Amino acid sequence: MKIKYLGTAAVEAIPGPFCDCKICRKARELGGRELRARSQALVDGKLLIEFNPDTFMNMFRFGLELVSIRHCIVTHEHSDHFYPDDLSNLNPGYSELPDGWPPFTLYGSEDLYPKVEKYAKRYPTRFVFKQIEPFVPYDIAGLTVTPLKAAHGTPHPYIYLIEDGKKGLLYANDTGIFPNETWDYLAGAKPRLGLVSMDCTEGAALQIGYDEHMCLGKNIELRERLRGLGLCDDDTIFISNHFSHSGDDVNYCDYLPIAEKEGILTSYDGMEIEF
Ligand SMILES: [Zn+2]
Ligand SMILES: [Zn+2]
Ligand SMILES: [Zn+2]
Repeated sequence: MKIKYLGTAAVEAIPGPFCDCKICRKARELGGRELRARSQALVDGKLLIEFNPDTFMNMFRFGLELVSIRHCIVTHEHSDHFYPDDLSNLNPGYSELPDGWPPFTLYGSEDLYPKVEKYAKRYPTRFVFKQIEPFVPYDIAGLTVTPLKAAHGTPHPYIYLIEDGKKGLLYANDTGIFPNETWDYLAGAKPRLGLVSMDCTEGAALQIGYDEHMCLGKNIELRERLRGLGLCDDDTIFISNHFSHSGDDVNYCDYLPIAEKEGILTSYDGMEIEF
């Protein structure tokens, strides 16, 4: 499988457009991998994760075409992951598509439907919303996608297990250490995890005082619990992702060596990994 990170920040992006903190200043000065759009990823070139406010620009900067990516899974309703207003560009007056072109299909929990209902009703041949339930595997874009419950501040947030028949990708932001139901599912299903992408909103901190996101210390704890269930092997790749300027040492150049000592990779916009 292949994952390409299109965006790797939390809601403010880095640098935050209105922010003059030392993290954001340093990011502006250094550029390159220090610049992070809101979190979004593409799996095997055909399954988009998140429909966020940077989707349009990400298609430009990575030479992608939304017109040929027809499936998108969304983790939850926060605006750095879900920006339904851009679906208005499916209006026939705004976009020409060949007859019989498959609709752009968005998958997510029941929380999303009220926000996309008008588009699903207005352009039914161009846009479809499919509500998916936790712990049920679905065939999406030729991959097996299983929503798992996340620990986050919205009613029904998901993280995703994505499998191609050989290996699994666990895409896990925004979440703290998972709820018990998710651990029970993983213990029973025993996926072979090739890559684990972990929320690291709080950067190099070893501990945080809330459960809705993680930090490096929590990433290490998560890795040990996944290993303890026998879901990983020596080749399993662990990546910290979804960074906020409010975290510790979150500039790429600072976080990278700290995480490297723990055997954890640091995501950046444009990072592509085959596993
Ligand atoms: Zn987020
Ligand atoms: Zn800042
Ligand atoms: Zn969130």
